Amino acid sequence: MSPIDLLVNSTIRPDVRAVASYHVADASGFIKLDAMENPYHLPHHLREDLAQRLADVALNRYPAAAYSTIKQRIIDKLGVPAGYDVILGNGSDELISILCMACAMQDRRATVVAPTPSFVMYQRSAQFAGMDYVGVPLKADLTLDLPAMLDAIAKHKPALVFLSYPNNPTGNLFTEEDIVAIIKALDGFGLAVVDEAYEPFAQQTFMNRLPEFPNLVVMRTVSKLGLAGIRLGYMSAAPQLLAEFDKVRPPYNINVLTQVAAEFALDHVEVLNQQAAALRAARADLTAALAVMPGVEVFPSAANFILIRVPDSDASHAKLLSHKVLIKNVSKMHSVLANCLRITVSTPEENSTFLDAFAASQAA
Ligand code: PMP
Repeated sequence: MSPIDLLVNSTIRPDVRAVASYHVADASGFIKLDAMENPYHLPHHLREDLAQRLADVALNRYPAAAYSTIKQRIIDKLGVPAGYDVILGNGSDELISILCMACAMQDRRATVVAPTPSFVMYQRSAQFAGMDYVGVPLKADLTLDLPAMLDAIAKHKPALVFLSYPNNPTGNLFTEEDIVAIIKALDGFGLAVVDEAYEPFAQQTFMNRLPEFPNLVVMRTVSKLGLAGIRLGYMSAAPQLLAEFDKVRPPYNINVLTQVAAEFALDHVEVLNQQAAALRAARADLTAALAVMPGVEVFPSAANFILIRVPDSDASHAKLLSHKVLIKNVSKMHSVLANCLRITVSTPEENSTFLDAFAASQAA
């Protein structure tokens, strides 16, 4: 073994060496329907105003550590209940990692439970924090298996249960009653984290129910709303919990450009809300168009993406790539997703380009 390989082996954890980096496909030259981005830019006049605001930012200074202006803007504009604060993450990815770091115990292995398949970073962050991860399979129709979730909670007494609401990559909303049953089952020892990354498309939230449940954490992101590039997530919970999470958060984790861009965008949040409304309408059109295609099963979606099952997902995916359309082949993620593909809802033009290419791929 070479000296550098020996060094890697003796310094880097085996479980880290064993996994691959989070894979992001190279999308240059493709219609990009793989990552649940909002396809719309800010309107031109707003971009010019934003450029001016960004030009005035003091790049030589660290961000103001309390982040009070951006936090207040989020609280005012995004429905955080009175008396509740937020903490900010460099994307909600960082918040997931902060939650795991804060809850991983030193004297015993703490556990994370989540339905599976779901967002992959729940498992990754649990692993990297040194926690056990227990995935509870969804039912064959991709709905939540509540009895199995409650069994896992009773057996493992998890510190954290992550619930993607709606769920990525399936797109469905678990029922409100099921989520409440999970929050209640965790009462006294565990936190239920409701991850509302796709809230602009589901328009269903647990944010207003924070005062009802002391063990509820609600996490969101501005990524799907149209600001994926600035990397900003936020979460709210009882102030005593937030105070602990905040200790684990790296100082200055939100940079000054993100902060100013987010403040600006939230001052014009109606523009982003209109874009989300257009995407919800496009989701209905795309769902209807896919549903009439022979051999294609379309799962109901409350998010800005649609999960479908096709006769041969690998062949369809490859064919779409040859048409320069990038979607996500999720068929290998879990056995309940056999032959499934995930398509981000985009503009009417991009959706119809996708549909044409997809129809051609199915015919071939
Ligand atoms: N939660 C869910 C359910 C997601 O699907 C994603 C991203 N795809 C995230 C969190 C992370 O989002 P971000 O880091 O962009 O805020």
